[in-house]
Amino acid sequence: MLSGPDRRLRVCALYPDLMNIYADRGNILLLEQRCRWRGIEFAVSASGLGDELDPGGADMYYIGGGQDRDQRLCALDLATVKRDALHAAAARGAVILAVCGGYQLLGHSYQLGDESLPGVGLVDLTTVRADDGAGRLIGNIAIEIEPHPLDPPDAGTVLAGFENHGGRTRLGASESPLGRVLSGYGNSGDDGFEGVRKGNVVGTYMHGPLLPKNAWFADRLIATALALDAPLAPLDDGLERAAHLEARRAAGV
Ligand code: GLN
Repeated sequence: MLSGPDRRLRVCALYPDLMNIYADRGNILLLEQRCRWRGIEFAVSASGLGDELDPGGADMYYIGGGQDRDQRLCALDLATVKRDALHAAAARGAVILAVCGGYQLLGHSYQLGDESLPGVGLVDLTTVRADDGAGRLIGNIAIEIEPHPLDPPDAGTVLAGFENHGGRTRLGASESPLGRVLSGYGNSGDDGFEGVRKGNVVGTYMHGPLLPKNAWFADRLIATALALDAPLAPLDDGLERAAHLEARRAAGV
């Protein structure tokens, strides 16, 4: 079990000034606090438009949600300037966590009417924005996910959060979703899938932000990013569990 300040989690936030709706910054703050409480050093860096990405520079790369107009600015940069580095980071087992607008850019493309934004091609998925008549998929959501050896003992298998997206995402036949929708819409609103998980690459539509509502999942990601061989030591998580249960209650689960 990990103890002492001899380990350090390095997180790199991609486009933190553009891709950060629904308080996505809260995800980073939660990671930081849970590391500090355990005596794990925490370092966060940023990589914005035009910045080269160091494929060995972080244990976790984070891409938050964004409006269509902000995604337009980031998509080309991600698919050109940062593409090779992000693929190399994924290949060496770094955690890549992408939420909503960031998730949509993990795949091949995000189609907005006549315009196609390029994706970074880390997973086999495509996203198409529904025409205005079909509307946005908005509301509280809960999903069931597969357990993982680095989950805390009392983790459970439910993630709860909030979604708001116009895009519908379809996974390629060989990809696995992050979870199965218990309540809400998920990737497309009609196939029962939510998000994607491929190795240590995770994409999800769940905002809220995701991690403060699901602290146990943050611990899984931290332990994975640090390549631990056992779950992190538990914390006094009374408030975190209450937040999780409230998010589940909002989603009716
Ligand atoms: N702009 C994207 C959509 O509407 C993503 C929105 C988001 O990140 N919440 O589908």
